[in-house]
Amino acid sequence: MRVSTTEAEVLVVGAGPAGAAAALDLARAGVSVLMLDRPAQARAKPCAGGVTIKAAQRLRFAIAPVVRESVSAITMSHRGRWVDRFEAAAPVCLMTHRPELDAFCLTQARQAGAALEHIPGIARVTQDGLHTADGAGRVTLIASDGQAFRGRWLIAADGAHSPVRRLLLGQPDGATAMAIEGLLPREALTDVAWPGMRFDYASQAGGYGWLFPKGDHVNVGLYTHCGATHGISRERLLAYSRARLGSDALEAVKGYPIPVRGDQQPLSAGRVLFAGDAAGLAEALLGEGIYGAVFSGQMAAAAILGAGDVAASYQRNLQSWRRELAVVRRLARVYYRLLPVPYALLRMGLHKPLMTGFAEGLTLVQSKRRWLTRQ
Ligand SMILES: Cc1cc2nc3c(=O)[nH]c(=O)nc-3n(C[C@H](O)[C@H](O)[C@H](O)COP(=O)(O)OP(=O)(O)OC[C@H]3O[C@@H](n4cnc5c(N)ncnc54)[C@H](O)[C@@H]3O)c2cc1C
Repeated sequence: MRVSTTEAEVLVVGAGPAGAAAALDLARAGVSVLMLDRPAQARAKPCAGGVTIKAAQRLRFAIAPVVRESVSAITMSHRGRWVDRFEAAAPVCLMTHRPELDAFCLTQARQAGAALEHIPGIARVTQDGLHTADGAGRVTLIASDGQAFRGRWLIAADGAHSPVRRLLLGQPDGATAMAIEGLLPREALTDVAWPGMRFDYASQAGGYGWLFPKGDHVNVGLYTHCGATHGISRERLLAYSRARLGSDALEAVKGYPIPVRGDQQPLSAGRVLFAGDAAGLAEALLGEGIYGAVFSGQMAAAAILGAGDVAASYQRNLQSWRRELAVVRRLARVYYRLLPVPYALLRMGLHKPLMTGFAEGLTLVQSKRRWLTRQ
């Protein structure tokens, strides 16, 4: 059988937040870009769809059409004993339903000129001319149905299990964070009032339980920053849902890793740049990954569009975010180990600079820095 090869200047594998952000910037700059992803029905990505203000500000377009609720107050609790409502003067998080958010971001990239093809999986990635300065080098991806795709660069934005990363570099070392979620339809909430956004610390060892309201359902989940060592399970999720919402009629229950070791992983392999979860760029305190995905996708595009050494420039672009990831990972270890002390500090006033920082689109480290300089 003769198989044709599809060519583009840049191949982007994975059309989630990282891939769509990269493809949009490249297409807008006039670069031919081809996104490769699995068919929509195979894509269902577990994600609570909470878009922080810093993530919303990073996107090149407003996501108002897919925002289901805009949140400016968060209820937090520790073991259900302390329950506090922390408010900000402006929204701190936008609630989206992930399939809707992904479809919206993908549409923006396609309207800018990026193409999309569906592939069933990835069999091989090969590279030639790695060190040619004249741009003659190429990277080739062979899909599991034999289709071949060739480009000058490949951005691997193919998620936490990144098949491209596995093929080129093997599995990354170290535990990842983990989360499990389910969707509780509004009709199932009979005895309990419609909840606001809520974090319950200590409902899950090394993490928290969450409620994210989305209009017709509540996204209910558990997060732990230390992966398998603090086992997350369907049973615990159901028990948490019963305790908070009086029902465990959750749909679409699914657990998934959240890679948070991006400061320790290589960002590239020859003509391949890793972005988003494929590069471990989520933060460990809350497991927020959409910001790191969008930011790194844009930075990968900027490195390809710029002059000079693409891999070095990508590394430079992500330097401060990766430094922040390392700081936040240490912070997460201390925070969850010392609970309830850190929670008591939140109650005593630490929530104010945090909520203000979130509302202004600052990262955790930026919020802390600003708070310290104002003391
Ligand atoms: C339960 C849960 C809840 C979360 N909630 C939040 C939240 O509220 N807010 C937040 O900021 N972060 C949250 N996160 C983290 C966030 O979902 C991720 O960090 C983010 O989706 C990473 O984006 P990405 O584009 O790198 O990868 P993904 O969104 O995973 O996209 C990867 C893409 O690659 C494609 N792909 C994978 N394999 C192949 C293949 N073989 N061939 C072709 N394509 C392939 C996939 O289909 C997918 O479209 C949550 C994570 C989990 C697990």
